[in-house]
Amino acid sequence: MKKNYNPKPEMTRKEALAVVHKVYEAQGFRIFREDATEEEKALQEQIHTAFRILDVAFHGEGARYFSTGLCSFCYLRLSHGFQVRIKGDSMRLMRPCCPGCQEHLQTEQKLERAEDWEGKEVMP
Ligand SMILES: [Zn+2]
Repeated sequence: MKKNYNPKPEMTRKEALAVVHKVYEAQGFRIFREDATEEEKALQEQIHTAFRILDVAFHGEGARYFSTGLCSFCYLRLSHGFQVRIKGDSMRLMRPCCPGCQEHLQTEQKLERAEDWEGKEVMP
């Protein structure tokens, strides 16, 4: 007789999507190389649309736009317009960041700058 009629899923749908975002962040540059194949060029066009569709499906309309969309550290929560810059980031990018990750990065003293949705600095 089966015992587990309703087993706990290995991961939620949001966690599964976060894994795909992180793999893309780590390896996605491969499809953008100069000698990209035709198939990779097609993927370059499609990947951001594909992520937007999935982000909105799992996280709602707030995930539609980069600046208010998913946190670019955990990819599990919306940034609600908060952005941070990490110390030593050679590109000096402001990246969407959820409150949980911001607190974590602050504790680890990795934050160079944090801004709210109006672009006002919110560093301690
Ligand atoms: Zn986060």
